[in-house]
Amino acid sequence: MKSPKKLVVSALLGLLLAGLAVVPFPVVSPSPVTAQSAITLSSSVETAFPNSMTFKVKAQSSIDIVKLRLNYTVERQNLAKVVSEGWAQFSPAPSVDTRWLWDMRKGGLPPGARVEYWWTAEDASGKRSQTTRSTTSFDDNRYQWQSITTGPVTLLWYSGDRNFANALMNAAQQGLQKIQNDTGAVPQRRVRIYIYASAGDLQGAHLFAPQWEGGVSFTNFDIIAIGVPTNQLGYGIRTVPHELTHWLVGQVTFNSYDAGLPVWLNEGLATYGEGPELPDYQAALTYAINNNMLFSVRSLSSPFSAIPLQAYISYAQSNSIVTFLIQKYGKEKMQQLLDTFRRGSTYDGALKQVYGFDQDGLDALWRESIGLKPVKTLFLPQRELNLALAGA
Ligand SMILES: [Zn+2]
Repeated sequence: MKSPKKLVVSALLGLLLAGLAVVPFPVVSPSPVTAQSAITLSSSVETAFPNSMTFKVKAQSSIDIVKLRLNYTVERQNLAKVVSEGWAQFSPAPSVDTRWLWDMRKGGLPPGARVEYWWTAEDASGKRSQTTRSTTSFDDNRYQWQSITTGPVTLLWYSGDRNFANALMNAAQQGLQKIQNDTGAVPQRRVRIYIYASAGDLQGAHLFAPQWEGGVSFTNFDIIAIGVPTNQLGYGIRTVPHELTHWLVGQVTFNSYDAGLPVWLNEGLATYGEGPELPDYQAALTYAINNNMLFSVRSLSSPFSAIPLQAYISYAQSNSIVTFLIQKYGKEKMQQLLDTFRRGSTYDGALKQVYGFDQDGLDALWRESIGLKPVKTLFLPQRELNLALAGA
């Protein structure tokens, strides 16, 4: 988005103030040694997206600098603020120019993630100095991003014209409105949606979307990344509200237990947010009914199969189950269900508390709603079910 950010910070005043705060005024004049030991610091950051961020620092003192430590914290929804540290390597000297490299290749940050950082230096006399806190972004500066903002949504794109971006923004707004109207989930924060020009560009950013989704929602970072070719606007119009719904639902159910939601509820809501029921979900559902390939609600609480047909049926079925819950029992119950998960609950416990039935009960009622007899479902872990269905 921008060229590497440069930031120069003088910490001399900070050191003097910190020294005054802890050291009482001496009765006699201070010795010249203490006056010489102030450390001057300046720092900068260079981003080489998606591989690394390099935090550079220059330190100057009248005696040897012996320690240089970077502290940093990533802006994300978190119950406790986590401060990490990196130690710069160098040989002690009065003047030091060094760096600390954050290798992002193994589990890095999403594009646009914001990092707050500051350096602390220590000299041979034990005196310390610290830069003021600064914020930098892990921007994907390989592309020239444009952006538009409506309400809590900022959409960033680099391929396609303004009409393309406006169409995706409209889909985002409609999806948010639909989920808000039908589940009571209201955005509390702002979100940025990065539209890459293709799935290949998305992968080039070290972002790997599931085959059936094409997008990734980093809910805790309030960042979404999706690959949408300009000639596949229809696909983008579904995927943007899908990922936005994951973000919104993740936000309103965030808790310290990390229990999460059953996958059928999460994907059912995301597909519900895509817009009016789309014919291919209905076709997949009809195919599954005719070929006796429906899953139990309970088995859909685990991650979906990687086998395309089964994955598609899982999405279609989750969409139908969530639509059934919203249409039959209403917005307030769905709002209560999400709130129960926010407070931490088992899947069956939350359903029982709000609707009075567990996942097996839901399975029977949902089947009845689409004209099927309830079955005595046999619970099989998803993997075994996949093997069985694949004929293994
Ligand atoms: Zn999804």
